[in-house]
Amino acid sequence: MQNTSQVSLALREIAALLEFAKAPKFKVKAYQRAVEVVDTVADLAPLVEQGRLEELAGIGASLSGQIEELWNTGHSQFLTRLRRELPEGASELIQLEGMTPRRLRALVDALGVRSVAELRAACVAERVRTLPGFGKKTEERLQQACDRWLNRGDEQPLPTLLSKALERAALLEQELAAASERVQLVGELRRGQETVRELEWVVLGDTAEPLRRLGGLRQVLRVEPERASAHLSEALRLQLHSASREAWGNCVVLATGSTAHVAALRLRAAARGFSLAGWDEAPSPGCPARAFASEQELYAALDLPFVPPELRQGEHELLRAERGELAGLIREEDVQGMVHCHTTYSDGKNSIAEMAAAAHALGMRYLTITDHSPSAHYANGVSLDRLKAQWDEIAAAQENTPVRLFRGTESDILADGRLDYPDSVLERFEVVIASIHARYRMDRAAMTARLISAMSLPIFKIWGHGLGRILNHRDAIDCDVPAVLDALAGSRGAIELNSDPHRLDLPPEWIPAARERKIPFVISVDAHSTRGLGVLRYGALMARRGGLRRSEVLNSESPERFAALVSPTQRGRS
Ligand SMILES: [Zn+2]
Ligand SMILES: [Zn+2]
Repeated sequence: MQNTSQVSLALREIAALLEFAKAPKFKVKAYQRAVEVVDTVADLAPLVEQGRLEELAGIGASLSGQIEELWNTGHSQFLTRLRRELPEGASELIQLEGMTPRRLRALVDALGVRSVAELRAACVAERVRTLPGFGKKTEERLQQACDRWLNRGDEQPLPTLLSKALERAALLEQELAAASERVQLVGELRRGQETVRELEWVVLGDTAEPLRRLGGLRQVLRVEPERASAHLSEALRLQLHSASREAWGNCVVLATGSTAHVAALRLRAAARGFSLAGWDEAPSPGCPARAFASEQELYAALDLPFVPPELRQGEHELLRAERGELAGLIREEDVQGMVHCHTTYSDGKNSIAEMAAAAHALGMRYLTITDHSPSAHYANGVSLDRLKAQWDEIAAAQENTPVRLFRGTESDILADGRLDYPDSVLERFEVVIASIHARYRMDRAAMTARLISAMSLPIFKIWGHGLGRILNHRDAIDCDVPAVLDALAGSRGAIELNSDPHRLDLPPEWIPAARERKIPFVISVDAHSTRGLGVLRYGALMARRGGLRRSEVLNSESPERFAALVSPTQRGRS
């Protein structure tokens, strides 16, 4: 399952089931302790990969084997057996807050509850309080725990990052495809939203069998067949939509959204004298409903080319589609160079040569080495004396790789808007990315002034992770973005679209404002390891959401042209 919190959840469930099954205390304790230990580890990956799990206190050979199995296969044979042997629903019920093995036994034996939903119903009917050992208070607390479990409580858990949701969706889609002839991902994930709460698919015909198949997966906590939906771990919901072959196109477009895009399509259909089958409760007599077997046919009937899902935001995409402007939209495979890479010279995990080899393996023609500047102490920023050594190492690595290596830096934008390193040094880099890494909370006026003064420097060429947000963790900085974009346009700088799935920054909703000002972009990886180069697809997706064309993305150019366009000493682009 390659996910530390998932391993922890599985171990927690094993402990609870063992306790319910009256297993020896020491055995239950061992699993409970393992949960605590795993919860303290930020990332299990290195420990599993290097076979070092047993270095953790309390993890012996047997537990380490179980954790490895969970990590590598996503399943535990032991857990599967426990679930099979115990009463139906026990594994979810035992995880409720306030549930003890004794209480569960009483509820199962006396009331026959088999799910959290059934327990909740029993609480509402005030049947739980009639059992010996249960009072009114306990019943109320259990009902609240049921509500939290069923997501009916107030607190909204954090949404899931795009990268993780795509990974999860790929796995679930395999299962769906095995149970249904035709499956299409739709909804906010298909539109490439940075974070999502729901995974949605359209399936051909009935949803019962695909849903039943999903019910057997570890990631699926609970299935609601009557709503064609399911609850997944990490607070994700799953929704299936059933479609016929004839109206497949209608259903897929409708379920992909966005609401505003669909509303615009509906208006267009009405103007052409028809409505779209499945969209209007009662189509008016002069407006017969039409069904389309594919999305392409639906758009064609509206005199439009196919609109890529990531552009369906209900803003100007129909206008742009009409004008034929969607044809040259940037694609991941257009990118020729990996921009924004860290190495062991600052906080990266791999050497220059290793990063170059990895970029080569991905078919890249160039790579910019942009380690942190000295003021980034926490990230081991490269001091002037170490810079000389790095440039020598870049030159040596260049001898052994066909990938063109560019000497660069990710220079801090200091609090007063100056860049780190003296100008005489900055001018000798081939690529300068300038980013904010400290003092995120300046007020709007000060932050705007800071950025505008940085961007007015002739050396300023690429604005790194623009608004400094970390999804689910840190808000964007407060600044007057249009004013900052004006300054950047004036200095002929470019904007980075950072592909790190935790950043996806500059947020794509600002791309149109930058395009209007003719500001070009780079799609960067901000890689801190060779593995980190794999995130490019997310940045490319954000670029497409913003409607960027290939001609607007500098690292879709050849190495020579890219170098000329971003050179810190160049005097403006032609
Ligand atoms: Zn940075
Ligand atoms: Zn960086």
